[in-house]
Amino acid sequence: MTMSHVDVVVVGAGAAGLMAAIQAASRGRRTVLLEKNRQPGLKILISGGGRCNLTTTREGKDLEAQYGKRRGRYLRHALRAFPPTALRSFVEDAGVPLREEDLEKLFPVSQKARDVVVALLQQVEQSGAELWSNAPLTSIERDGERFVLQTPRGTVTAASVVLATGGLSYPKTGATGDGYAWCRQFGHTITRTWPALAPLRCEESWVRGLQGIVLQGVDIACLDQAGKETLRRRRPILFTHKGLSGPAPMDLAGDVEEQDGHAKVRFDFLPGTQREQLEQAWLEQAKLHGARRVESVLPRTLPERMRHALLAISGSELDDRLGSWSKDARRRLLQAVKDLRVPVPKSLGYGHAEVTRGGVALDEVDARTMQSKLQSGLFICGELLDIDGPIGGFNFQAAFAMGRLAGLNA
Ligand SMILES: Cc1cc2nc3c(=O)[nH]c(=O)nc-3n(C[C@H](O)[C@H](O)[C@H](O)COP(=O)(O)OP(=O)(O)OC[C@H]3O[C@@H](n4cnc5c(N)ncnc54)[C@H](O)[C@@H]3O)c2cc1C
Repeated sequence: MTMSHVDVVVVGAGAAGLMAAIQAASRGRRTVLLEKNRQPGLKILISGGGRCNLTTTREGKDLEAQYGKRRGRYLRHALRAFPPTALRSFVEDAGVPLREEDLEKLFPVSQKARDVVVALLQQVEQSGAELWSNAPLTSIERDGERFVLQTPRGTVTAASVVLATGGLSYPKTGATGDGYAWCRQFGHTITRTWPALAPLRCEESWVRGLQGIVLQGVDIACLDQAGKETLRRRRPILFTHKGLSGPAPMDLAGDVEEQDGHAKVRFDFLPGTQREQLEQAWLEQAKLHGARRVESVLPRTLPERMRHALLAISGSELDDRLGSWSKDARRRLLQAVKDLRVPVPKSLGYGHAEVTRGGVALDEVDARTMQSKLQSGLFICGELLDIDGPIGGFNFQAAFAMGRLAGLNA
């Protein structure tokens, strides 16, 4: 068994750890980067459907707000020191030009996530950091001023350790929550964790019946047990055989999970129109076109199967006519169009979740350096912390920015 002595050991070669190792080694710190898998950066490789939505074009306060108030405030230092424009320059200077797609999302022009991983690994090599693949950290102890870390490849000691082992989502990529135990060992609090950015499971038969449909321009919101809205999104919604997927439902998953099985989602199929306005418009149409089907009041922007489902949910028949439309039936359709609530007890879980919500408590880690406030020389960054963001490159952006701070200070 070998014994190595270095300045910094970074644990986990994901977005945060790769960046931390590059920065630490570039400062002249002798650095070892430990990775459990044979292949480093596996999550980057599979991200964005293999295209890697690396970051966003959003900036400043608007960027911070995407992570929610508390997490956004915590990330302020990391994001100001290394905003999306800086991450973009870093990756482009490393040979991977990016371009904006799908509104505000930045992807490699080549459409290949692999290019990002290759460029980062080149940066690791140029920085002088030593990458140990197939080398899971199995234990970590403090011995005086140094940390002693065990791996199947040997023992390594270091003055500073950066933990960047990720969360619990997509465990097949190597993120199996190993870092939580070590953080606990050093006295850290791990806040409750939930899957986030995952498709939503829904048993409602009308939802399952619409499998394959995509809605655009429709609002979907998560409601807590008391019926209060926690988060709303107007992004594409995909109906699947298990429930709801696509950007908007996935963005709601963390909030849904936090409700412990009591969440509902609320659809507003015509978010640009007030309920009263809509009713007025429908009444006028009914007066003018009594022979028309009730269905005709529903916007053509909604797919036909969706329109038929709304009629059925409100108790109307496809053949019902505007001329004989009762007030009750009209109100029920209004309710279905503007405020349709569906129980959504949970998401599809960690196996399908792009991130983990919760993790190492933020008030125990210095947001300016990523150093533990409880254990000097220990740095914690990336998804292992209680940080998550919505779809759109926000999770990589946060991981790279935090990893950079850790590497500059470790
Ligand atoms: C399918 C999918 C698609 C995604 N798409 C996007 C996207 O397009 N844009 C975006 O911004 N975000 C995306 N994300 C989220 C993003 O991948 C993560 O938020 C980000 O990778 C977190 O970075 P990290 O470095 O903190 O952790 P990770 O990337 O999870 O890296 C942790 C690393 O630590 C290693 N490790 C764990 N335990 C040990 C151990 N004991 N010893 C040594 N190494 C260990 C793991 O093998 C892993 O390589 C996606 C996630 C998934 C699952």
